[in-house]
Amino acid sequence: MKFFDGHNDTLLRLSLYTRPDPERSFLDGRPDGHIDLPRAERGGMLGGLFALYAPSATGLSFDHFRGASYDCPLPPEVPIAVAQQIILKQISILLRIVAASEERVVLCRSVGEIRSTIAASGFAIVLHLEGAEAIDPDLHALDVLHAAGLRSLGPVWSRNNAFGGGVPMRFPSSPDAGPGLTAAGRELVRACNRLRILVDLSHLTEQGFWDVARLSHAPLVATHSNAHDICPSSRNLTDRQLDAIRDSDGLVGLNLATCFLRPDGQMLADTDLDVVVRHIDRLVERLSETRVGLGSDFDGAVVPDRIGSVAGAQAIFQALSARGYGDDILRKIAVENWLGVLARTIG
Ligand code: ZN
Repeated sequence: MKFFDGHNDTLLRLSLYTRPDPERSFLDGRPDGHIDLPRAERGGMLGGLFALYAPSATGLSFDHFRGASYDCPLPPEVPIAVAQQIILKQISILLRIVAASEERVVLCRSVGEIRSTIAASGFAIVLHLEGAEAIDPDLHALDVLHAAGLRSLGPVWSRNNAFGGGVPMRFPSSPDAGPGLTAAGRELVRACNRLRILVDLSHLTEQGFWDVARLSHAPLVATHSNAHDICPSSRNLTDRQLDAIRDSDGLVGLNLATCFLRPDGQMLADTDLDVVVRHIDRLVERLSETRVGLGSDFDGAVVPDRIGSVAGAQAIFQALSARGYGDDILRKIAVENWLGVLARTIG
């Protein structure tokens, strides 16, 4: 089952490499991490949303997501000049990958371009910005990023910035864990609607979620979040939030980060795929089979060891198939739902 993915942090990983040629690591394969082109082809990945992301000076490690409960402090804010420098480097790496790929990798700006890339056996990348620290309050940088191909944006990552409050990584916890959008954040959402840039809800607080829901004319999309009913993490979506996403004809991308899958909230590779199936069951029940996709979080999280990397992604579809999901529903979850909501959003 070929699939399109809603979220990964591969460009961040490549930008942290000290080697001079991160683009060759992506095109030819690399010994670490989750996604490169050879493994994507083995795992049936057609492409996906690739995140630009500027880390804080002091970040969170996966060790923070352990213990019966945890409440990670919000990482420090990132100054705009720092964020812009990091994001320009990540865009440059992507452009170099595309240029060196001999048309195997394509930066896509519309669903038409995604479909034609896939039809020509290419790998379709849509540019996403995770946290808008690189954007000035007057939104000049948004115009430039849009011209460079940006088609999806989360106003915040799990920290605060000029546009709003990020949801802290907390377990167990309601997502109602801090302030929502600022006035600048509301302007950013309006501008994204105008430019047809998808607004990602995944790292917003619940207040921020409802701020976007009230304001946005576009379908509500959480690119990489799960069902709070099964894993009560602050990063997951309550039934009320899922209902709002359903009513807007939006989408939720299932996150493979084990701390957002497991009922005990732990970041542990030793996690059975049964819990992945439970989340899909729950999301399909609330949203219907047309509003659920994948949002792997590859290269940004510890995923179940049965999957391991994108090369093992077919284990997800095998588990769903064993549960009784037919190929027609699996094709929707794997690719058609993402292309449908992107068509309704970016065009
Ligand atoms: Zn994320």
